[in-house]
Amino acid sequence: MSDQNQTDSSNFNEALWHTIFAEGHPLLIEKQFAFRQQGASPRCKMCLAPFANVPSGSDIPGPSNRNPRYCSQCDTFIRENPGGAKINLSMVFVDIRGSTRYSEELDLREYVRLVNHFYATTTQVFVETDGFMMDVVGDEVFALYPTGFSGVCEASDTTEQRECLAAKKALQAVKQLAPLGKGSPPNSLPFGVSFHTASVYIGTVRGAEEGISDVRVWGPEVNRAARMCSKAPAGKAIISEAALLKAGQLDDKLYQPEELVLKGISQQIPMRAYAPA
Ligand SMILES: [Zn+2]
Repeated sequence: MSDQNQTDSSNFNEALWHTIFAEGHPLLIEKQFAFRQQGASPRCKMCLAPFANVPSGSDIPGPSNRNPRYCSQCDTFIRENPGGAKINLSMVFVDIRGSTRYSEELDLREYVRLVNHFYATTTQVFVETDGFMMDVVGDEVFALYPTGFSGVCEASDTTEQRECLAAKKALQAVKQLAPLGKGSPPNSLPFGVSFHTASVYIGTVRGAEEGISDVRVWGPEVNRAARMCSKAPAGKAIISEAALLKAGQLDDKLYQPEELVLKGISQQIPMRAYAPA
Protein backbone atom coordinates (compact mmCIF):
# COMPACT_ATOMS: atom_id res chain seq x y z
CA MET A 1 0.00 0.00 0.00
CA SER A 2 1.60 3.24 -1.11
CA ASP A 3 1.70 6.50 0.82
CA GLN A 4 -0.18 8.06 -2.08
CA ASN A 5 -3.24 5.93 -1.37
CA GLN A 6 -3.09 6.77 2.31
CA THR A 7 -3.06 10.49 1.49
CA ASP A 8 -5.88 10.24 -1.04
CA SER A 9 -8.07 8.48 1.48
CA SER A 10 -8.36 11.68 3.53
CA ASN A 11 -11.23 12.99 1.35
CA PHE A 12 -13.31 9.84 2.09
CA ASN A 13 -14.32 9.65 -1.60
CA GLU A 14 -17.73 10.83 -0.46
CA ALA A 15 -19.17 11.62 -3.90
CA LEU A 16 -18.16 8.19 -5.22
CA TRP A 17 -19.71 6.23 -2.34
CA HIS A 18 -22.81 8.41 -2.39
CA THR A 19 -23.27 7.57 -6.07
CA ILE A 20 -22.75 3.85 -5.45
CA PHE A 21 -25.12 3.46 -2.51
CA ALA A 22 -27.64 6.30 -2.76
CA GLU A 23 -28.10 6.68 -6.50
CA GLY A 24 -26.63 3.69 -8.28
CA HIS A 25 -23.34 3.73 -10.17
CA PRO A 26 -23.96 3.06 -13.91
CA LEU A 27 -20.95 0.76 -14.33
CA LEU A 28 -21.74 -1.24 -11.20
CA ILE A 29 -25.42 -1.50 -12.16
CA GLU A 30 -24.41 -2.82 -15.57
CA LYS A 31 -22.27 -5.51 -13.93
CA GLN A 32 -24.99 -6.45 -11.45
CA PHE A 33 -27.59 -6.87 -14.21
CA ALA A 34 -25.24 -9.08 -16.20
CA PHE A 35 -23.98 -11.18 -13.27
CA ARG A 36 -27.45 -11.72 -11.80
CA GLN A 37 -28.31 -13.79 -14.90
CA GLN A 38 -25.27 -16.03 -14.52
CA GLY A 39 -23.98 -18.70 -12.15
CA ALA A 40 -25.21 -19.17 -8.60
CA SER A 41 -24.65 -18.09 -4.97
CA PRO A 42 -22.38 -17.33 -3.24
CA ARG A 43 -21.78 -14.06 -5.06
CA CYS A 44 -19.62 -10.99 -4.66
CA LYS A 45 -21.47 -8.74 -2.19
CA MET A 46 -20.86 -5.74 -4.42
CA CYS A 47 -21.13 -6.65 -8.14
CA LEU A 48 -22.92 -10.01 -7.73
CA ALA A 49 -20.26 -11.92 -9.68
CA PRO A 50 -21.19 -15.59 -9.17
CA PHE A 51 -18.67 -17.83 -7.39
CA ALA A 52 -20.59 -21.05 -8.14
CA ASN A 53 -21.74 -22.60 -11.44
CA VAL A 54 -19.56 -20.07 -13.26
CA PRO A 55 -19.94 -20.53 -17.04
CA SER A 56 -16.74 -22.02 -18.42
CA GLY A 57 -14.51 -19.69 -20.39
CA SER A 58 -16.11 -16.58 -18.89
CA ASP A 59 -14.01 -13.69 -17.59
CA ILE A 60 -16.07 -13.35 -14.39
CA PRO A 61 -13.73 -12.35 -11.54
CA GLY A 62 -13.26 -14.97 -8.83
CA PRO A 63 -13.42 -14.39 -5.08
CA SER A 64 -10.67 -12.27 -3.57
CA ASN A 65 -8.06 -14.33 -1.71
CA ARG A 66 -7.97 -11.81 1.10
CA ASN A 67 -11.69 -11.21 1.31
CA PRO A 68 -13.79 -13.96 -0.22
CA ARG A 69 -17.07 -12.12 0.29
CA TYR A 70 -16.01 -9.84 -2.59
CA CYS A 71 -14.63 -10.63 -6.01
CA SER A 72 -11.00 -9.74 -6.65
CA GLN A 73 -11.98 -6.62 -8.61
CA CYS A 74 -14.36 -5.22 -6.00
CA ASP A 75 -11.90 -6.00 -3.22
CA THR A 76 -9.27 -3.98 -5.07
CA PHE A 77 -11.78 -1.18 -5.65
CA ILE A 78 -12.70 -0.99 -1.95
CA ARG A 79 -9.01 -0.93 -1.02
CA GLU A 80 -8.15 1.79 -3.50
CA ASN A 81 -11.16 3.98 -2.71
CA PRO A 82 -11.58 3.99 1.06
CA GLY A 83 -14.32 6.24 2.37
CA GLY A 84 -18.05 6.51 2.69
CA ALA A 85 -21.12 8.70 2.64
CA LYS A 86 -24.21 9.53 4.64
CA ILE A 87 -27.25 8.10 2.87
CA ASN A 88 -30.86 7.11 3.42
CA LEU A 89 -31.39 3.39 3.39
CA SER A 90 -33.72 0.60 4.42
CA MET A 91 -32.46 -2.10 6.79
CA VAL A 92 -33.95 -5.32 8.07
CA PHE A 93 -32.76 -7.14 11.19
CA VAL A 94 -33.59 -10.64 12.45
CA ASP A 95 -32.64 -11.76 15.92
CA ILE A 96 -33.08 -15.13 17.69
CA ARG A 97 -35.42 -15.07 20.71
CA GLY A 98 -34.26 -16.89 23.83
CA SER A 99 -30.87 -17.82 22.40
CA THR A 100 -29.21 -17.94 25.84
CA ARG A 101 -31.85 -20.33 27.16
CA TYR A 102 -31.70 -22.57 24.09
CA SER A 103 -27.91 -22.67 24.12
CA GLU A 104 -28.10 -23.93 27.70
CA GLU A 105 -31.04 -26.32 27.31
CA LEU A 106 -30.16 -27.94 24.01
CA ASP A 107 -27.28 -30.20 23.18
CA LEU A 108 -24.63 -27.81 21.84
CA ARG A 109 -24.37 -29.58 18.47
CA GLU A 110 -28.14 -29.40 18.13
CA TYR A 111 -28.07 -25.69 19.03
CA VAL A 112 -25.36 -24.97 16.44
CA ARG A 113 -27.34 -26.90 13.83
CA LEU A 114 -30.41 -24.75 14.55
CA VAL A 115 -28.40 -21.51 14.48
CA ASN A 116 -26.99 -22.51 11.10
CA HIS A 117 -30.52 -23.27 9.92
CA PHE A 118 -31.51 -19.76 11.09
CA TYR A 119 -28.61 -18.17 9.15
CA ALA A 120 -29.42 -20.16 6.01
CA THR A 121 -33.17 -19.51 5.95
CA THR A 122 -32.97 -15.79 6.75
CA THR A 123 -30.08 -15.17 4.35
CA GLN A 124 -32.03 -16.94 1.61
CA VAL A 125 -34.90 -14.46 2.03
CA PHE A 126 -32.47 -11.54 1.91
CA VAL A 127 -30.92 -12.88 -1.29
CA GLU A 128 -34.33 -13.39 -2.93
CA THR A 129 -35.39 -9.82 -2.12
CA ASP A 130 -32.15 -8.19 -3.35
CA GLY A 131 -30.83 -7.39 0.11
CA PHE A 132 -27.18 -6.45 0.28
CA MET A 133 -24.33 -6.30 2.74
CA MET A 134 -25.86 -9.06 4.79
CA ASP A 135 -23.98 -9.65 7.96
CA VAL A 136 -24.10 -11.88 10.97
CA VAL A 137 -23.44 -10.55 14.46
CA GLY A 138 -23.86 -13.29 17.08
CA ASP A 139 -27.48 -14.45 16.92
CA GLU A 140 -28.51 -11.55 14.71
CA VAL A 141 -28.53 -11.27 10.90
CA PHE A 142 -29.19 -8.06 9.04
CA ALA A 143 -29.43 -6.88 5.47
CA LEU A 144 -29.30 -3.44 3.94
CA TYR A 145 -31.34 -2.31 0.96
CA PRO A 146 -29.28 0.63 -0.37
CA THR A 147 -31.15 2.62 -3.01
CA GLY A 148 -28.24 2.36 -5.44
CA PHE A 149 -28.30 -1.44 -5.18
CA SER A 150 -31.75 -2.74 -4.30
CA GLY A 151 -33.76 0.10 -5.84
CA VAL A 152 -32.38 -0.10 -9.34
CA CYS A 153 -34.46 -1.55 -12.16
CA GLU A 154 -35.38 -0.49 -15.67
CA ALA A 155 -38.62 1.10 -14.50
CA SER A 156 -37.16 3.15 -11.63
CA ASP A 157 -35.37 6.23 -12.93
CA THR A 158 -35.41 8.79 -10.13
CA THR A 159 -33.74 8.50 -6.75
CA GLU A 160 -37.16 8.78 -5.10
CA GLN A 161 -38.52 5.86 -7.17
CA ARG A 162 -35.45 3.81 -6.35
CA GLU A 163 -35.74 4.57 -2.62
CA CYS A 164 -39.36 3.38 -2.67
CA LEU A 165 -38.50 0.23 -4.58
CA ALA A 166 -35.69 -0.61 -2.14
CA ALA A 167 -38.09 -0.11 0.81
CA LYS A 168 -40.74 -2.29 -0.88
CA LYS A 169 -38.19 -5.09 -1.30
CA ALA A 170 -37.19 -4.77 2.37
CA LEU A 171 -40.86 -4.97 3.37
CA GLN A 172 -41.26 -8.05 1.19
CA ALA A 173 -38.38 -9.63 3.14
CA VAL A 174 -40.13 -8.75 6.41
CA LYS A 175 -43.37 -10.39 5.28
CA GLN A 176 -41.51 -13.56 4.33
CA LEU A 177 -39.37 -13.63 7.49
CA ALA A 178 -41.96 -12.90 10.19
CA PRO A 179 -43.93 -16.17 9.76
CA LEU A 180 -40.65 -18.15 9.80
CA GLY A 181 -39.84 -16.61 13.21
CA LYS A 182 -42.66 -18.57 14.87
CA GLY A 183 -40.61 -21.77 14.90
CA SER A 184 -39.29 -23.72 17.88
CA PRO A 185 -36.84 -26.62 18.41
CA PRO A 186 -36.33 -29.23 17.11
CA ASN A 187 -37.29 -27.71 13.74
CA SER A 188 -36.02 -24.14 14.06
CA LEU A 189 -35.33 -21.29 16.48
CA PRO A 190 -37.83 -18.48 17.11
CA PHE A 191 -36.81 -14.99 16.01
CA GLY A 192 -38.11 -11.43 15.73
CA VAL A 193 -37.80 -8.99 12.85
CA SER A 194 -37.37 -5.22 12.49
CA PHE A 195 -37.45 -2.85 9.53
CA HIS A 196 -36.32 0.77 9.55
CA THR A 197 -35.52 3.37 6.91
CA ALA A 198 -33.22 6.18 7.99
CA SER A 199 -30.07 8.17 7.36
CA VAL A 200 -26.92 6.20 8.15
CA TYR A 201 -23.24 6.40 7.37
CA ILE A 202 -22.03 3.66 5.05
CA GLY A 203 -18.35 3.28 4.35
CA THR A 204 -15.29 1.13 4.11
CA VAL A 205 -13.26 -0.22 6.97
CA ARG A 206 -9.79 -1.64 6.77
CA GLY A 207 -8.03 -4.00 9.10
CA ALA A 208 -4.28 -4.45 9.28
CA GLU A 209 -2.22 -3.56 6.22
CA GLU A 210 -3.05 -6.70 4.21
CA GLY A 211 -6.12 -7.62 6.23
CA ILE A 212 -9.76 -7.62 5.27
CA SER A 213 -11.39 -4.52 3.87
CA ASP A 214 -15.14 -4.34 4.09
CA VAL A 215 -18.17 -2.07 3.96
CA ARG A 216 -20.03 -1.26 7.17
CA VAL A 217 -22.86 0.96 8.40
CA TRP A 218 -22.84 3.21 11.43
CA GLY A 219 -25.09 5.64 13.23
CA PRO A 220 -27.75 5.94 15.93
CA GLU A 221 -30.45 4.76 13.49
CA VAL A 222 -28.58 1.47 12.96
CA ASN A 223 -28.61 1.00 16.74
CA ARG A 224 -32.29 1.86 16.79
CA ALA A 225 -33.10 -0.79 14.16
CA ALA A 226 -31.16 -3.39 16.16
CA ARG A 227 -32.98 -2.42 19.38
CA MET A 228 -36.35 -2.58 17.62
CA CYS A 229 -35.49 -6.11 16.55
CA SER A 230 -34.48 -7.15 20.05
CA LYS A 231 -38.00 -6.07 21.20
CA ALA A 232 -39.86 -7.92 18.44
CA PRO A 233 -41.66 -11.03 19.75
CA ALA A 234 -41.06 -14.31 17.92
CA GLY A 235 -42.91 -14.37 14.63
CA LYS A 236 -43.56 -10.61 14.64
CA ALA A 237 -41.95 -7.53 13.13
CA ILE A 238 -41.48 -4.05 14.55
CA ILE A 239 -41.48 -1.51 11.72
CA SER A 240 -40.87 2.24 11.84
CA GLU A 241 -43.54 4.42 10.26
CA ALA A 242 -40.74 6.03 8.25
CA ALA A 243 -40.05 2.67 6.63
CA LEU A 244 -43.74 1.98 5.87
CA LEU A 245 -44.12 5.47 4.45
CA LYS A 246 -41.18 4.90 2.13
CA ALA A 247 -42.64 1.55 1.04
CA GLY A 248 -46.02 3.23 0.43
CA GLN A 249 -47.81 1.02 2.99
CA LEU A 250 -48.39 3.35 5.94
CA ASP A 251 -52.19 3.21 5.53
CA ASP A 252 -52.36 -0.57 5.42
CA LYS A 253 -54.31 -1.99 8.38
CA LEU A 254 -51.89 -4.93 8.53
CA TYR A 255 -49.51 -2.71 10.47
CA GLN A 256 -50.90 -1.84 13.90
CA PRO A 257 -49.59 1.10 15.96
CA GLU A 258 -47.08 -0.13 18.54
CA GLU A 259 -46.37 1.57 21.85
CA LEU A 260 -42.75 0.70 22.40
CA VAL A 261 -40.13 2.68 24.28
CA LEU A 262 -36.58 1.75 23.43
CA LYS A 263 -34.26 2.19 26.39
CA GLY A 264 -31.07 4.09 25.70
CA ILE A 265 -32.55 5.77 22.61
CA SER A 266 -33.20 9.43 23.31
CA GLN A 267 -35.68 10.26 20.56
CA GLN A 268 -38.64 7.90 20.18
CA ILE A 269 -40.28 7.53 16.77
CA PRO A 270 -43.70 6.14 15.76
CA MET A 271 -43.65 2.41 15.15
CA ARG A 272 -45.99 -0.31 13.93
CA ALA A 273 -46.19 -4.04 14.56
CA TYR A 274 -46.72 -6.70 11.92
CA ALA A 275 -48.06 -10.05 13.08
CA PRO A 276 -48.82 -12.44 10.24
CA ALA A 277 -51.99 -14.51 10.65
ZN1 LIG B 1 -17.41 -7.86 -7.30
